[in-house]
Amino acid sequence: MSESETTSRCPVALVTGGSRGIGRAIAERLGRGGHAVAVNYFRSPDAANDVVRQIAAAGGRAVAVQGSVAVAEDRARLVAETCEQLGRLDVLVNNAGITSPGRRDLLEATEASWDEVFDTNLKGPFFLTQLAARKMIEQAGADAAATPGGVIVNVSSISAYAVSANRVDYCTAKAGLQMVTWQLACRLAEENIRVFEICPGVIQSDMTAPVVAKYDTLIADGLTPIRRWGQPDDVARAVEAVVSDAFPFSTGERINVDGGFHMRRL
Ligand code: NAP
Repeated sequence: MSESETTSRCPVALVTGGSRGIGRAIAERLGRGGHAVAVNYFRSPDAANDVVRQIAAAGGRAVAVQGSVAVAEDRARLVAETCEQLGRLDVLVNNAGITSPGRRDLLEATEASWDEVFDTNLKGPFFLTQLAARKMIEQAGADAAATPGGVIVNVSSISAYAVSANRVDYCTAKAGLQMVTWQLACRLAEENIRVFEICPGVIQSDMTAPVVAKYDTLIADGLTPIRRWGQPDDVARAVEAVVSDAFPFSTGERINVDGGFHMRRL
């Protein structure tokens, strides 16, 4: 099959923060499952290139694209490079995110930390989605018969509703991502673009590496009905499901991938 045939047949996904952790698992799963994948990274080119190699070794197609989702010019470049290198854009997974730098108590929280977290975890996903949606709409206008519709996936967190006083910026930005998901879902339905929020619980990754001992104890003590750490691939499986044609009449939905954390218990 020629490269142009490959790109015209494969749906194309852009996965932000695809170099490590949850994003890596999402990129690899989508890549194995028939998406051409743009693996976005910020500071880890070697890790991103390794993901690209893994996808290629499994028979898929992927490219690494550098850029910070917090920076407007980078966001524009991410969409442009994805379309230049892979031919189109059908799926955007807004996965890239940072925890609260320093994890300071809210009485010591700084504006610098607030701005960095909001730029990366909330402003970035919204404005990247705006660019991606415009591209999807443009594609649909040019080739309506060949376009099954776009999908946007926002990776939020149980921190959207569970208070951590040492991560006020992170929790508040993740709470905002639910409203962003609903805003996008309502507006973009008329453009044949569905929007989902994936809400992970405690997942084993570099982000949670500094707090392993704390969560080991909490999980053993029953923090979650399913008593284990979540794995990046648990989240990737949920993303794969909403990106498939399994939910054609659903949008704005929050999918919890949290071992049951979200249920109040007595
Ligand atoms: P991680 O292991 O720390 O990986 C973070 C990823 O985001 C890396 O690929 C990193 O890229 C990328 N990234 C960071 N800042 C970026 C920026 N400005 N622009 C583009 N990419 C950037 O984190 P993770 O645990 O996989 O978390 C992924 C997502 O899941 C985040 O949105 C996080 O809030 C959410 N989440 C995580 C957990 C958890 O328990 N781990 C729970 C709930 C939700 P580089 O390495 O290339 O810089």
